[in-house]
Order: sequence, then structure tokens, then C-alpha cells
Amino acid sequence: MMDKVILLKPYFSHTIWGGTKLRDEFGYDEPGDDIGECWGISAHPAGEAVAENGEYAGLKLSELWNGHKELFGNASGDRFPLLIKIIDAKKDLSIQVHPDDAYAAEHENGSLGKNECWYVLDCPEDGELIAGHNASSKEELCDMIDNGRWDELIRRVKVKPGDMIRIDAGTVHAITAGVCVLETQQSSDVTYRLYDYGRLQNGKPRPLHLDKSKDVIEVPSAPAEKQVLRRECVSDNTVTELVKTEYFTVAKVKVNGECAFDTDAGFICASVIKGSGKVFDKNVKKGSHMLITAEGAKKVKLSGDMEIIISRV
Ligand code: ZN
Repeated sequence: MMDKVILLKPYFSHTIWGGTKLRDEFGYDEPGDDIGECWGISAHPAGEAVAENGEYAGLKLSELWNGHKELFGNASGDRFPLLIKIIDAKKDLSIQVHPDDAYAAEHENGSLGKNECWYVLDCPEDGELIAGHNASSKEELCDMIDNGRWDELIRRVKVKPGDMIRIDAGTVHAITAGVCVLETQQSSDVTYRLYDYGRLQNGKPRPLHLDKSKDVIEVPSAPAEKQVLRRECVSDNTVTELVKTEYFTVAKVKVNGECAFDTDAGFICASVIKGSGKVFDKNVKKGSHMLITAEGAKKVKLSGDMEIIISRV
């Protein structure tokens, strides 16, 4: 019988803007004071999650995808499509943009593009993120970039915990200091950096990618209300959809007691963001990431007192 759930051991990325929250508040056993990202569900070659339980324990997620397609409902595609991260920005991330599939395929060795979204786990009071820009034409955009008019260019949006922020490919964006998000994205690591606040890493500025940024930035930006999505979880033990795009659907489940729901997904990515409980017979807690396999996705069974973010293609 196929395992219904496979817990995953994350990969951690250390960055100049990272901190210690992923260890202190999510309980990950990761050393260092510059932990920027926990790649909880990843089959990306830059950092893979590894199966922790069941007959496939020790295998990388890409090995499961390539060798055991039945776990994913025989999904098509040459690579696992999603990447789920928790990001802790102790300092500001660079202002950046990602290409879409077509541009990335042509200019980045066949990589996927990157549409992403952020579920805000934690942020300062009056929290802000950078999403979108204020230029009304490509010409104005290029002028603002060439002349470093960053304050005029970038659009800041107010956010609070529980908000979902949609960042399509081509959207100027940045996570700002003090904000912690769960990111659901296409499995891609292609980032074009526009501005890095003049910071140095190992004594040198990190590279910028101004020409590619100008190529891919969408002008004008989509309105901010299409990017900051507020959805109240109206009741416990139901699935509340947070965002649906061509690439993924992300939802939240607030578990209180017992909860079960049917899906037609080939597989589901799940991350516990609060509390603890069980997914089928597996104990999970805040910070746990897992793949719910084709067998489990037919009828997902959760119990305990916890909040889970789930995503599917
Ligand atoms: Zn991004």
C-alpha cells in the first residue's frame, strides 16, 4: 500500500538578510544566524527536500518524482512543479523580478519561470511589502531604474498576518525586514535583481540584472488590490482557498478536532504553520512539511489543533 503522507526534511539557505527565527520559532535544527529560507518542499537542484518516512526514506523529492510517478497520480511534466519555502527576512531582501516560463526557457537554459505568492506568517505592526511599481510606461520605468529613483518606482503595500500576496512573473517585489512568509512558487530559482540597497556580500556587491529586469517587468503594474488578497477563514475544519493561478492553488485549513476532505488532486503539498496534530497517522507540528500522495489526496484526514497551508497544481 502506498504511503498516504511522506514527511520531508527541508533544505536551508543562508543569506545576508537571514536571521534565527527559523530555528527559534519554527524549531528547525539549523545552526547559524543568517538562516534566510527553509525549502520545505523542494525538488530544485539548488536545494532538495528528502523523504523522512516510509519505504522511500532517504530519497530526494526529485528521485520520488522521477522514479515513482504513481505517488503523484502519474502527473505529467519533467520536474516536480512547485517549491514551498518559509522565508525569514531579518533585513530587506533585494528588489527583484522573475521571468515567466517563455522568457526563462529562452534565456535561462530551459528553467521554469517563477510565479509566486506569499502567505504572511508574521510582520511588524504597519507591515509593508514591495509589490508592483508606479511607472506608467516602459520609458519611465527605464528612466527610474537608470537614475536610481527607487522610492518613486517601487510600490509599497500594507500587509498583516494572514494576508496572501500574489506575485506573478514580471512583478517588481521585495520582502521587507521583519516579515516572515510561507512562499508557494513554481520550482525555479531565477531572480533578476534590480536594487540591493548598496549592500556588500563578502566585500562585493551582489550582481544586478538591469537589462533582463527591464525586459520582463510588466508595465503598468496590476492594481495593488489584485495582489493583496484577504480571506477570512470562516470556520474550522473547512478548506479556505487563498489564491488560484494557472500554476497553483493555495488554501488554508484550520484544524480543530477532526477534519476530512476529498480532493481530485494528484498530490498535495502541505506545511503546518501553527499548532500540532496528525496528518493521517503521522504526528506533525509547526514547521512540518509533507507530500500528501495520490493515495492520501483522495480523502485527506487531519486532526489536532493546528493550521496548515496546502497547495496543488
Ligand atoms: Zn521573488
